[in-house]
Formats: sequence, C-alpha cells, structure tokens
Amino acid sequence: MEQRWLLKTHFLRPDEYICPLCGTKSAREKKACPKCRAPLKRAKADVGWVDEAEGLAAMLEDD
Ligand SMILES: [Zn+2]
Repeated sequence: MEQRWLLKTHFLRPDEYICPLCGTKSAREKKACPKCRAPLKRAKADVGWVDEAEGLAAMLEDD
C-alpha cells in the first residue's frame, strides 16, 4: 500500500508534512521519511486550516 505525506496546513503558520507511519514532521515533501525511511508520495491537499480559522473567528467574537 502506498503511503503519502499527510499535509497539515495552518491558517497563520507554514504548512507541515507528517509521516503517516512514525509521525515525523517535515517542512518539505521528501522522497522518503528522514526518520523511518518509508518511501512517501506527495500529500493530498487537506483543509486543516478551516478549523483554525473557525477557532479564530470564535475568538474574535468573544469580547
Ligand atoms: Zn516516518
């Protein structure tokens, strides 16, 4: 089974790529995980920032 980087996008911070096998975070998509050496394919886009944007909106309303 092929493995892909998990793309974690952030609303206010740079994206992170996470190894699905060992959880190592990387700032870039490499051909393999630098820690467990698993070959990894490019991440699919995720929408992780949506939750953070909603959290920010809730925070701004709360005053
Ligand atoms: Zn790994």
